[in-house]
Amino acid sequence: MNRIAHLTILGSTGSIGTSTLDVVARHPGRYRVLALTAQRQDDALFEQCARFRPRYAVLLDDDAAGRLAQRIAAAGLDVQVLGGIAALERVASLPEVDTVMAAIVGAAGLRPTLAAARAGKKILLANKETLVMAGRIFMDTARQHGATLLPIDSEHNAVFQALPRDYAGDLAASGVRRILLTASGGSFRDTPLSDLRQVTPEQACAHPNWVMGRKISVDSSTMMNKGLEVIEAHWLFNAPADAIQVVVHPQSVIHSLVQYVDGSVLAQLGNPDMRTPIAHALAYPERIEAGVEPLDLVKVATLGFSAPDFSRFPCLALAYRALRAGGTAPAALNAANEVAVAAFLNREIPFLDIPRTIETVMDAVTPSAANTLDDVLGADAAARAAARELVQRAAPAPAPRQP
Ligand code: NAD
Ligand code: MG
Repeated sequence: MNRIAHLTILGSTGSIGTSTLDVVARHPGRYRVLALTAQRQDDALFEQCARFRPRYAVLLDDDAAGRLAQRIAAAGLDVQVLGGIAALERVASLPEVDTVMAAIVGAAGLRPTLAAARAGKKILLANKETLVMAGRIFMDTARQHGATLLPIDSEHNAVFQALPRDYAGDLAASGVRRILLTASGGSFRDTPLSDLRQVTPEQACAHPNWVMGRKISVDSSTMMNKGLEVIEAHWLFNAPADAIQVVVHPQSVIHSLVQYVDGSVLAQLGNPDMRTPIAHALAYPERIEAGVEPLDLVKVATLGFSAPDFSRFPCLALAYRALRAGGTAPAALNAANEVAVAAFLNREIPFLDIPRTIETVMDAVTPSAANTLDDVLGADAAARAAARELVQRAAPAPAPRQP
């Protein structure tokens, strides 16, 4: 490598953002951080600014940006502080930036990630919701503007590694029979169905193998995360729904696989640590140290596999349904899910109301073509409104029992 790569990290205070900075800090001669962003976490962003000295720090929330600007000035740091969504788009498309880590959570990531695609950046894509909502628009924009997409989601990064290096979006031409996405099964894999009614946000967020943000942790516990990943794989690899199979694999050691027509199955393995896909994408096509403990297969000893239980995890079936329906259906699925998950985390609805809310919204809204960003944002807004109405009507979550 002959020059330093300049980075923007969208969502730098989150789980993926901090893991990215951990890898970057191991290679000071290779990467320079130009912009860091967050929603409203000015304390965490200040600490990151003091350590990584970016040129820009952006907070979506203007009040938080004001507080950060004061602290930056008091500390005498040479960091320009900006606020608002336009500033997020701006730092995602700066001419001096080579690589954008897209690690905002949820639909909020769509506009800045799309801005990076329009600017032809190398995009390390963690924000799966961008592809779920606006897969065709995002992929077309990336292609038109020469952006490079490298998947960060561990499953998609694994598939990317197991596909031929020159894979150009044609499974059959590459001799691929299907893509196998592994799923840990989440926090409630072994919880009796009758107990699922009572589970708390804390239990849902206690993932057995991965430490992640709260939204994706709940998504893992409902298996909506795997459903979103099926849609993500569809767009990234141009794979039809029937060519994407989910396999439950509790150890999370095999991160996903590609099955070829000659009977070969190629997998990527490793300890469950997001620094592996992050380092892979940062250095691609080279390899760099990620700080990840080497996999000890003898210690792992056994790898298990089973079929997903679609009746236990209705969200997975709802995602396949949205993918098959096409158009704005996945955007509606995603929006209803975001509202339902936020309501569950706020203790406004019980766990089992998450799939119920999404299904009711999907039954109520008719999907239409998703040709423009306005089509997608309109479907997102309509599904959000419908989901909020259902949440408000729902009975409050059961109160914790008094001793
Ligand atoms: P997180 O909640 O830990 O962090 C989210 C980041 O986005 C924070 O920096 C937050 O300030 C910022 N943010 C949140 N809302 C925002 C808004 N409205 N506008 C601007 N910024 C906002 O989330 P995470 O677990 O790091 O996940 C980030 C993305 O990566 C998600 O799309 C998730 O699905 C994906 N992902 C995460 C993991 C993981 O291990 N955490 C694995 C695979 C994929
Ligand atoms: Mg994943």
